[in-house]
Amino acid sequence: MTVHTSDLTAAAGALQSLQAALGGRVSLDPEVRARYRSDFGRLVDRLPGAVAFCASAEEVAELVRRCRELRVPIVPRGQAHTQTGQATSEGGVVLDTAPLNRIHAIDAEALTASVDGGVVWRDLVVATTAQDLVPPVLTNNLGVTVAGTLSMAGLGVASFRYGTQADNVLELEVVTGEGEIVVCSRQRHRELFDVVRCGLGQFGIITRATLKLRRCRPRVRMFTLVYDRLDLFMADARRIMDPADRSFHSLGGICSPAPLGFRSIGEGLELGVGVQGFAHWVFPMFLSVEFAPGEEPDDAALLAGLHFHRHAHTEDTTQLDFCRRMEPMFQLWRRTGYWEHPHPWMETILPWEGSREFIESVLAQLPPGALGAGGHVLLWPSRTDCSDVPLFMHPEGEVVMGWGILGAVPREFLEEGLAKLDLASELSIYYGGKRYLSGYISFDTVERWAQHFGDRWPAVQAAKRRWDPDGILAPGFIQYE
Ligand SMILES: Cc1cc2nc3c(=O)[nH]c(=O)nc-3n(C[C@H](O)[C@H](O)[C@H](O)COP(=O)(O)OP(=O)(O)OC[C@H]3O[C@@H](n4cnc5c(N)ncnc54)[C@H](O)[C@@H]3O)c2cc1C
Repeated sequence: MTVHTSDLTAAAGALQSLQAALGGRVSLDPEVRARYRSDFGRLVDRLPGAVAFCASAEEVAELVRRCRELRVPIVPRGQAHTQTGQATSEGGVVLDTAPLNRIHAIDAEALTASVDGGVVWRDLVVATTAQDLVPPVLTNNLGVTVAGTLSMAGLGVASFRYGTQADNVLELEVVTGEGEIVVCSRQRHRELFDVVRCGLGQFGIITRATLKLRRCRPRVRMFTLVYDRLDLFMADARRIMDPADRSFHSLGGICSPAPLGFRSIGEGLELGVGVQGFAHWVFPMFLSVEFAPGEEPDDAALLAGLHFHRHAHTEDTTQLDFCRRMEPMFQLWRRTGYWEHPHPWMETILPWEGSREFIESVLAQLPPGALGAGGHVLLWPSRTDCSDVPLFMHPEGEVVMGWGILGAVPREFLEEGLAKLDLASELSIYYGGKRYLSGYISFDTVERWAQHFGDRWPAVQAAKRRWDPDGILAPGFIQYE
């Protein structure tokens, strides 16, 4: 695996000067620094030279200016759910955004929320649902920060209707790589607004955001439908995503294996050489509808004409618990130790046409045991016409298919597992897919990044020079010319 480290390293003397200037906002304590060595992926081990804690845009700006003077790299870090060390630094400064945690205002008339960049989505959702308001798009995991997902995109089960979370932000307060505080939006400094969204902390540090909200009903009915054929799942997803069909508020899915034992792939009985586990795959679809008490949905009418094999489950819940529906699974991951394993997640956004062929061919080669207990394969149909964020890279076409192998790989199988994930990643790119950048990414040359950003690459490079002229922000992940 190639994981890049920064070529911009910080001299020990520079970090001491930084600490002397900023006092308690900068920690050089080895025990504190050790907590920031890796991320959810557990694939990298990088010890930062210092950890910084800032509670306002002014404090962040001062930190960035000092880092720039001292030529010290600085990486903003939310809740570190990335998987290739996107929010780590070998020897530089990691800025922990946890102190940027204030929800400034929730405006039920304007349908907006004004929050600090380090606010965790769960806290915001608890506050908004109390007023029957909700952010239009939420990720499956609410334990992530507002700035962390805006810097990535933020995809969720309502994206087919509302785009990414980065589409649903009205204004951002950003500290640039020169240490300037700039407020940007679609109307002001749009050139910065357009690169900070999905910008992985490369062009500025988001300190505050004004987010869109929408009115919601207090209860949600959730349906679990099982498809035994991917083509039928896709045909129904396409119908549900039709803008004229407003039946469902959310749409998601997974590919679920029914293990069938082992089959021969060569000579002998050696695992992975002579035999390999295989499975029959089914495709659960998760749909939901919001409602007010007394206005329960008509299930038969809603599900009429869909081609599922089995209607497996229906459940009513509150809006808040719907938003938090994945939390029990994450709790289980923590209790079973799964959370601590290496997680090289491989997510990709595929052109609709071709996605079935790609998915079926990869599933045919994916032993169900390779996912680890708790791992799963994501299936995420969406539309593209509800997103206009320039750096959210996705294939052309009205509809796309997000797909991901979200497993935990035991360390002893890591090398082999990463090689296979690299193959799957390459194949997805061959099919016209675009990788989602929070996962396991092994792009190791400028050319690979240029290929990823396509015709936007010159603009990405120009924006880097414009907003971070000394290359101090989050160096090492994206490679520039
Ligand atoms: C269990 C799990 C479930 C997930 N589910 C989804 C999902 O449903 N949909 C989805 O889209 N993603 C999902 N992800 C991916 C996750 O949303 C992204 O990794 C997201 O970036 C995490 O936010 P964070 O606060 O942990 O950010 P971090 O991992 O800390 O940082 C992510 C990136 O943003 C940058 N960054 C952080 N803070 C700032 C800031 N203030 N200003 C500028 N840049 C900043 C970092 O430098 C880094 O490049 C999931 C991940 C996990 C582990």
